[in-house]
Amino acid sequence: MSNIDEKLQPILDQVLRRNAGEAEFHQAVTEVLESLGRVVAKHPNYLDRALIERICEPERQVIFRVPWIDDRGEVRMNRGFRVQFNSALGPYKGGLRFHPSVNIGIIKFLGFEQIFKNALTGLPIGGGKGGSDFDPKGCSDNEVMRFCQSYMTELYRHLGEYTDVPAGDIGVGGREIGYLFGQYKRLTNRYEAGVLTGKGLVYGGSRARTEATGYGATYFVQRMLETRGNGFEGRRVVVSGSGNVAIYTIEKVQELGGKVVACSDSSGYIVDEEGIDLDLVKEIKELGRERISKYAARQSRAHFVEKGSIWDVPCDVAMPSATQNELTGRDARALIANGVIAVGEGANMPSTPEAVRLFREAGVLFGPGKAANAGGVATSALEMQQNASRDSWTFEQTERRLADIMHGIHDTCAATAEEYGSPGDYCLGANVTGFVRVAEAMRALGVI
Ligand code: GLU
Repeated sequence: MSNIDEKLQPILDQVLRRNAGEAEFHQAVTEVLESLGRVVAKHPNYLDRALIERICEPERQVIFRVPWIDDRGEVRMNRGFRVQFNSALGPYKGGLRFHPSVNIGIIKFLGFEQIFKNALTGLPIGGGKGGSDFDPKGCSDNEVMRFCQSYMTELYRHLGEYTDVPAGDIGVGGREIGYLFGQYKRLTNRYEAGVLTGKGLVYGGSRARTEATGYGATYFVQRMLETRGNGFEGRRVVVSGSGNVAIYTIEKVQELGGKVVACSDSSGYIVDEEGIDLDLVKEIKELGRERISKYAARQSRAHFVEKGSIWDVPCDVAMPSATQNELTGRDARALIANGVIAVGEGANMPSTPEAVRLFREAGVLFGPGKAANAGGVATSALEMQQNASRDSWTFEQTERRLADIMHGIHDTCAATAEEYGSPGDYCLGANVTGFVRVAEAMRALGVI
């Protein structure tokens, strides 16, 4: 049941046919094309030269074998991906995801979202995404290193600071980026710092990159809340996940006076009515790489819920920061019944289309991932700037740029939504703003 303009329907039909079975990619493309009806009504020339068809087709897709040897000496094999989706605005840019659920459809949905997200930052970066169905859970440090080295042994030939610049995503953090960079450097015999972002501070990383996605999402939601009068002060907040995005979302929400009462991992969620003890979460998840249930074992006032949905926990602000489609129509109904006023997506596409529709109908402020979580990739672009100028900025300077970028994204999305007759519709604002920037560059570059 889509809401697509009749001129765009054949384009969508072709995408669905050509990419059969790739449900998440279909979802991401449908959502963007639904927003473009009003754009092509106003500017029919965006339909020329198959521009929209070309945006929906990756420029290049690389799929490769990744063999590696585990600690018992057994040969293991995974599949590696890199989808170089669009380079009209700059080198392909986007993270790598290591998770057993990864397949080409997942990487294409993430790469497609990344095009518009990156355009929204206003920085010169194209869109791409990669990863593997490798499951780091339970692997030793040596196994992760050997996997990363094998993965990079194929991928390096497709990368370069002017070509394609990966970073982290689920399952890929500072440790993995270090091993990937080490292998790239060894294979190429070049210290090309700008080829990867999310690097450690000792070898060319940027201050505030680790915190950037969560901090940025919080700045975005703060700005949305301000359109209704006040910010996070005194608000009850639920943040799903407990990885990099969730942790730094909790940190910034707490700094701004909000109270985060729940977070989760794939095993369940914890509720702490006094407010989450973030140092404990960091100790369990960042250092220990352990399950979130340990929080309740260590902190008696909290409890762990194994089955059920974190979105049943009443809150004013919900920040889904785990993974795609984690917040369903049922969850949206529960949140709305409990009086939620704002939802900001820290993860990529965490709300199902039904959930997004319900939030819109209920008048809930809704910041879609491609706008709200753009702070991570924006700070990656700042890392590239620092690498290019062989400079390194202070934390304050970098965070200030991040805050300015997030406020800019919010305000631009709001202005675009207004211009296109749907004030407050940040989905429309984000899709249209991102699309127009990419489309203008593509038009200028000709049919390529
Ligand atoms: N994986 C992050 C995202 O979804 C960051 C990508 C990057 O820094 O290149 O935007």
